[in-house]
Amino acid sequence: MRDIVIIGGGIAGLSAGARLSADAQVTVLESESALGFHASGRSAALFEQNYGLPSTVALNKASADYHWHANGGYLSPRGFLLAARADEHAAFEKDAETLGIAPISLERALELVPILDPEQLAYAGYHEEAYDIDTDRMMQDFAREIRRNGGAVITDAPVSAISRQGEIWQVSTPKGNHSATRLVNAAGAWADQIAGMAGIAPIGIVPHRRSMARLPAPGGHDVSRWPMFFGVGETWYAKPDAGALLVSPAEEDPVDPHDAWADDMVLAEGLARYEAIVTEPVTRLLTSWAGLRSFSPDRALVLGPEPGDPTFVWCAAQGGYGFQTAPAASQLLADLVMGRAPAMPGDVVASLTPDRFRG
Ligand SMILES: Cc1cc2nc3c(=O)[nH]c(=O)nc-3n(C[C@H](O)[C@H](O)[C@H](O)COP(=O)(O)OP(=O)(O)OC[C@H]3O[C@@H](n4cnc5c(N)ncnc54)[C@H](O)[C@@H]3O)c2cc1C
Repeated sequence: MRDIVIIGGGIAGLSAGARLSADAQVTVLESESALGFHASGRSAALFEQNYGLPSTVALNKASADYHWHANGGYLSPRGFLLAARADEHAAFEKDAETLGIAPISLERALELVPILDPEQLAYAGYHEEAYDIDTDRMMQDFAREIRRNGGAVITDAPVSAISRQGEIWQVSTPKGNHSATRLVNAAGAWADQIAGMAGIAPIGIVPHRRSMARLPAPGGHDVSRWPMFFGVGETWYAKPDAGALLVSPAEEDPVDPHDAWADDMVLAEGLARYEAIVTEPVTRLLTSWAGLRSFSPDRALVLGPEPGDPTFVWCAAQGGYGFQTAPAASQLLADLVMGRAPAMPGDVVASLTPDRFRG
C-alpha cells in the first residue's frame, strides 16, 4: 500500500484524500486549527453546472450524481436569476446563452426577487437548476471517510520543509515529520509555494481575492426562497444566507497568498453596482470577509502527477469551482495517481493535467 501525504485541508485536499484513502495510507496536513479555514470556508456554496470553462463544466456534470446522492445528498434548491439594465442587453444575451438561462418576464423576476427595481430592470432570466451545497458537511464527510479508511487528518500542522531521500518524500511540521512515496499539493493559494519547497517548478497559480458582505434581509423580507441573483458579466451577485443576504462585488484581484480580508473600497463599489438595480439601499453590514480563488494560467484546474516527477501530484487551481467540481476532480486525481483509466474523456483529462504547462 502506498503512503500519501496531502498538503492542505480544504475541499481539494479532503476530497482527494477520501478517494485516495480507499487504496493508500493517507495523511492530510493542514496549517490552520480548523479544516476549510481559507477559501473553502468562505465560498458562496453554489452548484451551477454551466459555470466555468468546458473542462470545469465537464467536472461539474460528472459531479452531479455525487452531489445529489452521496451521504444523503448535499444539494438544496436555490435557482439562478440574471438581472440586467437597459444598457446591458448584449451582456445579458451572452451570459444567458453561456449559462443556459431562459428569459423571463419582469413581473416574474419581481415575484422571485421583490427588491429588484422595476424602473431599472430591463431584462431578466432564470433557471431552477442551481443549488446550494452543504459545504461544511461535505468537508466533514470527506474527512470522516479518510479516518474510516485508516488515514489521518492533522490540523495545526503547517508544512515548513520538504525534502527527499531516495524515493521517499520527507515533510516537516511542528507536529512531527511525515514520510510518503507520493506528495499531493492541495495547498490552494499556496500551491506554487509548496511546489517550490519540493523543488518542483511553479505553474503560475495566482490567488485572486473575492470579497463578500453579509447584509440584514433587505426591507425585512423573508429572503429564504429567493434565488441567487447576478448582475451581468458577473459584476456582482447576491445570495440568501440563513435569513440574511450575501452580496459580493465579484472582484478578481490578483494578490499574494494570505489570510484574505475584504477590501473596503472594492466592497463599496460592488455594493453600489448591486444597489443600482434594487429598491432597498444598503444601510448596514452584518459582517464582511474575503477568500482567495486560485487560477492557473489558462484558468482550468491542475490535477495529476508532475510529468518530470510523478511522485509529486498537483490538486490545485480550483478557482471559483472547488466545491462543485470536487467529486469528479477527486475521482480523476485518484485514477491518475493509482494508474487507472479515468472515466472522464481524454480531451478533458488533457486539459486538466499539469502536462499542458510543461514543454
Ligand atoms: C467568495 C468565494 C465564493 C466562492 N463560491 C464558490 C461556489 O459558489 N461554488 C464553488 O464550487 N466554489 C466556490 N468558490 C471556490 C472554492 O471556495 C474554492 O475553489 C475551494 O475552496 C478551493 O479549495 P482548496 O482546498 O483548493 O483551497 P483552500 O480551502 O484554501 O485550502 C488550501 C489549504 O491549504 C493549507 N495550506 C497552505 N499551505 C500549507 C502548508 N504549508 N502546510 C499545511 N497546509 C497548508 C491552507 O491553510 C488551506 O486550508 C468560492 C470562493 C470564494 C473565495
